[in-house]
Amino acid sequence: MQTFYTDVLSIGAGLAGERVAIEAAGAGFDAICLSIVPARRSHSSAAQGGMQAALGNSAMGEGDSTDVHFLDTVKGSDWGCDQEVARIFCENAPIAMRQMAHWGVPWNRVVGGKGFYFKGGERFEKFEKPENEGLITARNFGGTAKWRTCYTSDGTGHTVLYTMDNRAAQMGVQVHDKVEVISLIQDGKRCMGAVARCLKTGELRVYLAKATLVAAGGFGRIYRESTNAVICDGGAHAAVLDTGVVPLGNMEAVQFHPTGIVPTYILVTEGCRGDGGTLLDVNQERFMNIYEPEKAELASRDVVSRWMMHHIRQGKGVKSPYGEHLWLDIRHLGEEHIRGKLREVDEICQNFLGIDPVQNLIPVKPVQHYSMGGVRTNKDGAAYGLEGLFSAGEAACWDMHGFNRLGGNSLAETVVAGMVVGGKVVEYLQGAEAQFKTSVIEAQVAKDRNRIQRLMDCADGGEDVFAVRRAMQDALQDGVHIFRSHNDLEQAVFQLQEVHERAKKIGLKSNGKGANPELALALKMSGQVKLALCVAYGALKRTESRGSHAREDFPARNDRDWLKRTLATWANEDDDLPTLNYEDATPSFEIPPGDRGYGGGTIIPMDNPPAGKED
Ligand SMILES: Cc1cc2nc3c(=O)[nH]c(=O)nc-3n(C[C@H](O)[C@H](O)[C@H](O)COP(=O)(O)OP(=O)(O)OC[C@H]3O[C@@H](n4cnc5c(N)ncnc54)[C@H](O)[C@@H]3O)c2cc1C
Repeated sequence: MQTFYTDVLSIGAGLAGERVAIEAAGAGFDAICLSIVPARRSHSSAAQGGMQAALGNSAMGEGDSTDVHFLDTVKGSDWGCDQEVARIFCENAPIAMRQMAHWGVPWNRVVGGKGFYFKGGERFEKFEKPENEGLITARNFGGTAKWRTCYTSDGTGHTVLYTMDNRAAQMGVQVHDKVEVISLIQDGKRCMGAVARCLKTGELRVYLAKATLVAAGGFGRIYRESTNAVICDGGAHAAVLDTGVVPLGNMEAVQFHPTGIVPTYILVTEGCRGDGGTLLDVNQERFMNIYEPEKAELASRDVVSRWMMHHIRQGKGVKSPYGEHLWLDIRHLGEEHIRGKLREVDEICQNFLGIDPVQNLIPVKPVQHYSMGGVRTNKDGAAYGLEGLFSAGEAACWDMHGFNRLGGNSLAETVVAGMVVGGKVVEYLQGAEAQFKTSVIEAQVAKDRNRIQRLMDCADGGEDVFAVRRAMQDALQDGVHIFRSHNDLEQAVFQLQEVHERAKKIGLKSNGKGANPELALALKMSGQVKLALCVAYGALKRTESRGSHAREDFPARNDRDWLKRTLATWANEDDDLPTLNYEDATPSFEIPPGDRGYGGGTIIPMDNPPAGKED
């Protein structure tokens, strides 16, 4: 068995993982990034619309500042975020964006003079200052007071990840791809690295590191309908949960994006609406302007998704063999704009729907898109519960998004957190002694070998892993979606507990040798169901509505009782539910809880008397 030693091991070679590794390499430390796929195929490359930073260069961004970005982010989170972290993020985003330009990202730039833009289907004029010509420009996105989303057409993730990967190679960061982590090596106090499986040969490998970083992205594929790639399935989160001591934060906070195309659920970017696209119903009439007169299609994603589902419930959906949907209309933006600034959207429509968005309406509906929850860290990116373990990017609950992430704030988070957490990892490494306990390493490898052998021998049963996955996805899709209620959530938890029992009895149909996708899935299936239970059970217990967590039986945002973050651990292997604890959402309030200005709904204020004690 191969054993690798390094200073920093990043589980993930997407934007966050590579950015942390670059920071470590820049300080003279060795860094290895692991990835299921080649680094440039990491899911960051799928991001289209852009990333937020308060540069204020464009006409519509004039007057923007890190304070305005901070206010938008806190409001967007429905006051569920850690405000200290949100502040760190907003202050550093402009620096990170300019640094990415320096490293080679070909940002779209301000073109001086008269131009035009669309809002709500109507055309307006704007004037870009000639002296700003050539500066990084921005487009409009949901939930923001200013145009702040820096972009490269609609291939932002692609250009930024390619640039980051070039930089990582220049700095000597090693990437081991087609390698999947299946467990962490830890003794309950310190993390020492990970056990991984080579996806080409099926061999196990040991990676030992002074600092281990979980930068494995989101886990949307635990849902049936998701914009996420198939590799976003939570295998690394499952390994974290299996430690029994590291909590996952706010797992019930799941983002549904308004414009997944039907029926493949591939995303078409919020940039479509940011650039002036509109949502239409079965009668080809706009409706968001009725529900949200000011923000309309550009309210935050949780709000737009809810109104879309509400509108469908009112009988205004378009019936199709794949269920009801609504329309996204970008035709009025014109051919030049669509084929230029929205060219990935154009290609997606042509290749996956067989339609031309210059001429045709795009069928869309809200689908799972982003995981606000993840490995809970402090503001330095250090995971709770294990020394030497860090997390960054979508995998982490750092937690600047609270209960709703603003569009464009995630790509930006990967590079900002990469920079900030990378710096903290370096500080940690500067004082770190390597302490690898052979007994702990051997025990973990033996445990993983035993798991594999039992699956191959069908020692615990012959359950089909793909059927188990489907049952898990169905339970979440049907019970823990945009609108939630006690009965649905209880039913989902119950179903998932049954699925969990089935997952313990999985046996392989194939021989399990070599490059074997069935084994790869079987190894994480039980962990995925545990993640699903963290989502469902956390949602059942949170008796309020906040951001993306909309309880029909508890419609108010309850600041009195629920300005809290859920912390879910899986304390004992035999448990059938996660253990939930809670902590304050934020250590301090720079902006006290208030109204978001969109989305409506009632708020139970912090200083309201406890239930039953009202005068
Ligand atoms: C279609 C789409 C469009 C988006 N558009 C935008 C946008 O315009 N703006 C925005 O702000 N956000 C956007 N997002 C969100 C944003 O792209 C992601 O949140 C972000 O890129 C995640 O980056 P990351 O580095 O955390 O993870 P990723 O880029 O997902 O990288 C994860 C890495 O971990 C590896 N990995 C995973 N599990 C394991 C394992 N067990 N062992 C070893 N390696 C593992 C993967 O191979 C990969 O290298 C979009 C998301 C989607 C799905």
